[in-house]
Amino acid sequence: MIADQLRSGGIEVHEGIGGTGVVGILRRGTGAGSIAIRAEMDALPISEQNQFAYRSTQAGKMHACGHDGHTSMLLGAALYLASHGRFEGTAVFIFQPDEESGRGARAMLEAGLFERFPADVVFALHNLPGLEAGRIAVRPEAVMACEDIFRIGITGNGTHAAMPHKGTDPIVAGAHVVTALQTLVARELDPLDYAVVSVTDFQTTGVRNVIPGSVTISGDARSFTRPVGDAIDAAMRRIVSGVAAAHGAKCEVHYNREFTATINTAREAGIVAELGASLFGRDMVDANCPPLLASDDFGALLEHRPGAYFFLGNGTEGANGRALHNPGYDFNDGILDKGAEFWVRLVETQLPA
Ligand SMILES: [Zn+2]
Ligand SMILES: [Zn+2]
Repeated sequence: MIADQLRSGGIEVHEGIGGTGVVGILRRGTGAGSIAIRAEMDALPISEQNQFAYRSTQAGKMHACGHDGHTSMLLGAALYLASHGRFEGTAVFIFQPDEESGRGARAMLEAGLFERFPADVVFALHNLPGLEAGRIAVRPEAVMACEDIFRIGITGNGTHAAMPHKGTDPIVAGAHVVTALQTLVARELDPLDYAVVSVTDFQTTGVRNVIPGSVTISGDARSFTRPVGDAIDAAMRRIVSGVAAAHGAKCEVHYNREFTATINTAREAGIVAELGASLFGRDMVDANCPPLLASDDFGALLEHRPGAYFFLGNGTEGANGRALHNPGYDFNDGILDKGAEFWVRLVETQLPA
């Protein structure tokens, strides 16, 4: 649908970039400058609880992060620029799949995104419930965290619940591991570094009268720089192996980097703040907002190009104020024009005719 819409506006279209990714190219004049803007397309495996007419018609699938809104804004801007845009250079419109898994941006990069469609800079926005509708929040440097996931296997020796001395209980060892992991942020990291480590799953066989042979503990760790993530990884391996050994159990730690941090370049973050102020008023822009410990795989694109990622307020009232990924979330259609206008003016001011 996106490819058809772009083509209907006379925009050059490339499909199948990193899976279902779509790239639109719009050239004007002979200017060498180029600017890329990215919108995500994917939904979430959530059953929508809203009752309004435009709720999801797909059971178990919902646009609970508002990516359909981001796509609509960029599509609107692309079609406007194709028919009325006054700029000189190349605008690259990136429609990216699979953001929620953290793999879509990387897949498009591996498909040669910036080699095939060169861009000097790259920008993206994300709606944010709880922030006044239409308000812009941005910051130089880290704006979203990196996300690492971990899976810890503790192997003991299963036995009868009434004869614990005949085996090695991995549940007790695992419980001590969960407790010891609470010291990771509190005692291992510089208090001035932001990080969070959360155990989110603890699995055993679940049989009433059996001490199982093994347990699996999983979770998620977030921080804003790779060295902090690496420090968590190393300390986790040391703590888990020490605690497991103390209980006579064996362990295995898998620590994987899923999302890289989203780190804005200062110049481009400044461009967002200035343009936002000129379009919507200085009181509608927070140029140094606090970072969020959530993650966005746009960070992978920022590892290859300067650029900025900013938040556009989704509103504070009713469903518009409900959190991203909530089954009652509602993208605020009242900010569609703000996002589209921002992208149009960004291209026109950064690639002046
Ligand atoms: Zn999301
Ligand atoms: Zn999102």
